[in-house]
Amino acid sequence: MRIPFVAGNWKMHGSKAMIQDHLGQFTQQAEALNNVNIAVCPPSLYVSAVQSQLTSSSVKVGVQNVCDQAGFGAYTGEVSVDMLVDMGVPYAIVGHSERRAFYCETDRQVADKVAIVLDKNLTPILCIGETLEERESDQTEHVVKTQLIAVIEKVGIAAFANIVIAYEPIWAIGTGKTASPEQAQAVHAFIRNLLAQHDTAVAQQVVIQYGGSVKPDNAAALFAQPDIDGGLIGGASLDPMDFLAICKAA
Ligand code: 13P
Repeated sequence: MRIPFVAGNWKMHGSKAMIQDHLGQFTQQAEALNNVNIAVCPPSLYVSAVQSQLTSSSVKVGVQNVCDQAGFGAYTGEVSVDMLVDMGVPYAIVGHSERRAFYCETDRQVADKVAIVLDKNLTPILCIGETLEERESDQTEHVVKTQLIAVIEKVGIAAFANIVIAYEPIWAIGTGKTASPEQAQAVHAFIRNLLAQHDTAVAQQVVIQYGGSVKPDNAAALFAQPDIDGGLIGGASLDPMDFLAICKAA
């Protein structure tokens, strides 16, 4: 039985005051929720501030990106997986479509990052998904398959037992245009079947989040789908009560 997982991707939002206010409200009530894993992914500069609000909370912290080089070295502006270990950060979002589009991350780099995160026994949240143009030209399955195969070839199928996948159709991100539960379920089932072609047990284990304009009013219908195991939430995760409502729906 898969435990649903809801993570908030704050993107480039947040401040010391927001963290105190948001997590002060959220964490107390989140403790009452059973059978859902929860994480928040602030900008990495704020990881410590978030952690100090999460002491004695079951809510975990993650980062939104990690360097494709492990260890330490001359990589200006980057954060390494070793620093995540040092800081006790269990999750790293990898390959978000905004990283792929604005910072030119390739499937290969994304696969390298997944491998580096796994190597330190942390959990990557691997984002995949198609553009509107790709969906309209019937390329959705081809695109998510290519993105997944790059990672399977790098880390092997067994490693997927320790990977969270986030299916995020790019056309649904920040647009208010959510994939319908049926549209999302179809792609989630495709992803799980693809993994099952390599290993059926692993495929059943993998948590596959949906991301893209998840809100309190559409979360329950999305999360009710058999292959949707929670969500990766952008805008709505910035509001503590909206995020709480979405976590409750999982
Ligand atoms: P929105 O929920 O704002 O559409 O963002 C989704 C997302 O990109 C989460 O990673």
